[in-house]
Amino acid sequence: MDNCLDKVLCTECRSVQSYEVHTEQCMRAWNGKQYTFNKRIAVCSNCGHQVTVPGLNDLNESEFEIKCREENDYIQVYEIQDILIKYDVEKRPLSRVLGLGEHTIENYLKGQLPSKRYSDMLRRVLESYKYLQQYYSANRDKLNKLASEKIDNKLKYYESINSCDSAIEYVALYILNSKYEITNMSLQKLLYYVEAFAEVLLKKRIFVNRCEAWMYGPVYPEIYEKYKTFGSSQIQVDKTDLSDRLSSGVCKVIDFVLSQFAIYNGVTLKDLSHSEEPWKNAHKGYGEKEHCREIITHDAISEYFNKMNEKFDLSTESGVKNYIDALLWQK
Ligand SMILES: [Zn+2]
Repeated sequence: MDNCLDKVLCTECRSVQSYEVHTEQCMRAWNGKQYTFNKRIAVCSNCGHQVTVPGLNDLNESEFEIKCREENDYIQVYEIQDILIKYDVEKRPLSRVLGLGEHTIENYLKGQLPSKRYSDMLRRVLESYKYLQQYYSANRDKLNKLASEKIDNKLKYYESINSCDSAIEYVALYILNSKYEITNMSLQKLLYYVEAFAEVLLKKRIFVNRCEAWMYGPVYPEIYEKYKTFGSSQIQVDKTDLSDRLSSGVCKVIDFVLSQFAIYNGVTLKDLSHSEEPWKNAHKGYGEKEHCREIITHDAISEYFNKMNEKFDLSTESGVKNYIDALLWQK
């Protein structure tokens, strides 16, 4: 409503009048079914007669459409736009890759409703690069060189950030699939706490990667490199089911660590890790702004967190909370 005019012509008053907007329940058909819908109606403030406000009808239409698509789980127009952005592809090449008619995507973007089957296909393509990859390998010869190169690059990129070959990559992907907003900075700290808590709670080392005492706290260089392109923004990956890759015990530890630590942002997590012995000892002798790549050994992590576990009982939420409070207090 922000773009609408303040006053419009009232044909009843025959002058420009201010108006009020009410909602009125009405029945409307969508894709063969009837829906009740709250429609906005503008009336003249002076006489109560209905007036025409430019834009109001479009607003009603798009709101009704969005609501109906949502209720029936159809892809929204903005999600189709997201597909174009995600894979750096134009409307026509996307139509060709998906084996659709030349103008199909264009028509969907103009508001034409896809069949449920195509709607579901487009959803899957948006949610996982793997689906687009399948269509792309079947239809790549229908694209010109430039379009094909662009999609190729994107698919390679998504493959690199979503694939995993090692335990730490599974854990990282599990963290990135959680409901929390994770940046590369916070991811590094969360991996470190997962390493620590797996040791304390499971008496197990669940990955063997090198952890280094960077100026911003503990960092696992391989994982840091993998997600570097996100800078300090939230890392976004495709939804991946990792239930067959990680044991339920490990998942429980990660869930626990996330519930206790992922509620803090990367900077707070960095501050926390800076108050802990493993980082402090490894970083000893380095200035605040000095580049440091000293290793934080698993033994150092294990020894310190087992000690803290005796003091705070890190298997309970209140124990972890007391531990975090004590660290922040000590600063
Ligand atoms: Zn009027």
